[in-house]
Amino acid sequence: MRHRRSIDLMPREDAGDYGSTLDRLPEWYVLVAHCGKCRHQAQVDRRLIARTYGTDVPLARVPRILKCSRCQNRDGNKLLLGRLPRD
Ligand SMILES: [Zn+2]
Repeated sequence: MRHRRSIDLMPREDAGDYGSTLDRLPEWYVLVAHCGKCRHQAQVDRRLIARTYGTDVPLARVPRILKCSRCQNRDGNKLLLGRLPRD
């Protein structure tokens, strides 16, 4: 499946509330990291997380391993779920 359109993200769901692991997350969800300090938001490549931490990593654990690419902050970061637009 290809996504031709650019991603229009409206992340609002906290991935920690999803209560599942990375491999159970449906394809149309994208992960967005939210910095607790500078509020920078960036899309996270789930394949990168899977390769580093395994596909069975609980989503609730992922925020703790995130580091802000802008201010290098590691505290209070959140992992949000965004949805890809579906036709
Ligand atoms: Zn930051």
